[in-house]
Formats: sequence, structure tokens, C-alpha cells
Amino acid sequence: MLFRPIGKTGMSASIVGLGAEHLDNRPYEVAEEVIDAALEHGINIIDVFMPGKPVRENISRALKGRRDQVLLQGHVGSVDLRQQYDRTRDVDICRKYFEDLLRIFKTDYIDLGMMFFIDTEEDYQGVFETDYITYVQKLKEEGKIRAIGASSHNPRMAARIVETGTIELLMFSTNPAYDMLSHDADIGDAMAGRLDRSYFDGMDPDRVRLYQLCESKGIAITTMKTLGAGKLLSPEFTPFDKLLSVGQCIHYALTRPAVVSTLIGCNTREQVLEAVNYLNLTDEERDYSEAIRTAKGSLSGQCVYCNHCLPCPAEINIAATIKMLDIASLDPNNIPTQIRDEYEASLSKASDCTECGSCEAKCPFSVQVIDKMHSAVALLE
Ligand code: SF4
Ligand code: SF4
Repeated sequence: MLFRPIGKTGMSASIVGLGAEHLDNRPYEVAEEVIDAALEHGINIIDVFMPGKPVRENISRALKGRRDQVLLQGHVGSVDLRQQYDRTRDVDICRKYFEDLLRIFKTDYIDLGMMFFIDTEEDYQGVFETDYITYVQKLKEEGKIRAIGASSHNPRMAARIVETGTIELLMFSTNPAYDMLSHDADIGDAMAGRLDRSYFDGMDPDRVRLYQLCESKGIAITTMKTLGAGKLLSPEFTPFDKLLSVGQCIHYALTRPAVVSTLIGCNTREQVLEAVNYLNLTDEERDYSEAIRTAKGSLSGQCVYCNHCLPCPAEINIAATIKMLDIASLDPNNIPTQIRDEYEASLSKASDCTECGSCEAKCPFSVQVIDKMHSAVALLE
């Protein structure tokens, strides 16, 4: 397993993590099988957004005294008051469910305390303009959560949350279909195969900006919907002409700026093994570019960090360099220190480019790499 630091929290997450929603409404044995497989293969982060007692109890029991081996990503405001999964900002209700979480997991703290599901203006006001935010911050002061995070599916709202400076971690829905969906399209329709390819119109600038913003501010992202609820793997539902594999979906998410861990929902040992097998795949097996090229639209000229342009005779890590350039370009007068440090540590820099052009000939997305190298020199050297 490989681990990435969760922003500035001092914690590190396995790059493949576990989303536990598929353990809901299943017998204990399923939770035991999945949790055992996950821990045996080095997974150290588990998202438990589900409010129901049975599933929480099953996961806790399956951990069998191994709670300290995992980072629990728990959510404040995820409830099932009417036997249905819902969200609330009512502090008394939030407290009841959160205290339940601590009690069920026999723990004094939740590692990653997420402000649950902030997608709309109403959600935002319910979180940031009520005593909900005070409650969450108090949980951190009291050591009941180690870091404050938030979950969202809306890139503009997520960026607004990041800009408040209150979170250290964002859980965000990330996959190539969501990233390429135009604004007037509905994600549900897209994933149900009800949209034609004209709705996939290059990278959504709001989503691109969100990833870059998080990276520039040192806010880590854990991803949900990495496999598009399995639809990207399905000939019936994929919006692309080619199917993506589990490994390609994971690789896509892990190559977005700021992403530290992909939380994969599993309900069998085999699914866990398929997810962690990502670590054994070759670069060719991880390559997602062919599939997303089938919906490229205005992807032309946009770097998707796929590494197809390698090898570079000057040994420049082209995707990483362009990624740093993209983030630095967000605010050229205030380039984040970690980007400058990362660039400084690169063994080969943009100024080593000999303009041989071999990268541009290989890039499936017609990126003007040489121009990008010039820009990187200007901004980062
Ligand atoms: S320049 Fe092209 S080939 Fe290279 S990482 Fe970017 S999109 Fe991929
Ligand atoms: S043009 Fe520059 S970046 Fe591209 S392969 Fe040649 S040396 Fe590397």
C-alpha cells in the first residue's frame, strides 16, 4: 500500500480506502469479510457516513480491537430519523448521532469529522450561519474529532467551503464522467445513460479549479463515486464509448490535484482485492486516456495528467510539471510554497526541455506541451 499525507493534519491515508455504504443492510459476516480484507491489504481509511446503528455496529465489531489501525471518516449531520437516510443541521440531533458513533466504535475520537453533504445554498447557510459550525469546531477543540472536513458533490459550493478556511479535508465526487459533464446536464441522467455525448464537453472548469484550489491551499481530497456507482464499468450505462476498469477509475482520481485517497465501496473480499490490485497494475493498465478520449469534445488542449507523453528525453515529469503550472497559474502573485518546493525538488525542470516535440506527438489531447514548459519556466523558475 502507498500512503499520502492528508493535507496539514499530520495523518496519512492509504491511496485506496474503503467506502462502507455497501455494508449497509447486510449481515455482520459481510462487514467482517470486507473489513478483514481491507486491513490485511493495508487500507487504513474507512468512510462511515451511514447513520444506521446496525451497520455502524457491524463495522465496529468487524474491526475487532483494530480501531487504532484505521482513520475513521465520520459525518456530522447524517441521520435516519424517518428510517431513511437524511441530513440535518440541528445540533441536538447531530450530537445524538455523533455521540452514538463514538460509543459504537468504543472510541474517544473520530479522525476525520466531516460536515455532511453541503451542496446547496440552504446547506451552506445551515452549516455556516447556525450553531452547527460552532458545534463542529467545539468537537475539534475537545479532541473528539482530529480534523474538520466537509463533503460535497457541487464544485462551486465545495470551492466556497474551502475558501472559508474551516476545513482541512474535502470529500468530493470524482470520476471522469462527472468532471466532463456540462453545466446544463444532470449527473443522474448521465450515469443512467440518458445523455448523449454532446453533454460531455471537456473538463468542467469549476471542477478543475476546485482540484487546483485544494492543492494550492493544502486541503486534501478523499473521493467518492470514483467508479460512478459502477456505471463507468458497465456497457449499459457508461457515457463513454470505451469502458473504464476499476484500476483506471482509481488512477484517474489519484491523478487529480489534491486527491489523497479513493474510497471504494465494497461488499465482498473480491471487490477489495480488485481495488487494492491497483497497486500492481502497469502504467498501460492504469491508462484511462483512451476511454475519456471518446468524449473528448473540448478536451483538446487540456492536460488530463495521463502521462501518455512520456518518456521525455530530458526526463521531465511532464504531467507533474503541468499540474504544478496549473496550480501556480491560479494566483501567479501568490504561488503556494509547497508548489514552489515541489518544483524545486524536481530532478528535471521545464527549462531542461529541448523542444524535441516527442511529447506533443504522443499526447492524445493535443496539449501544447512546449508552450506549457515555457510558461512553467516563467512562473516557477
Ligand atoms: S500533456 Fe497530454 S499526454 Fe501528457 S499528461 Fe497531459 S494530457 Fe497526458
Ligand atoms: S518537448 Fe520538451 S517536454 Fe516534450 S518530450 Fe521533448 S524535452 Fe520533453
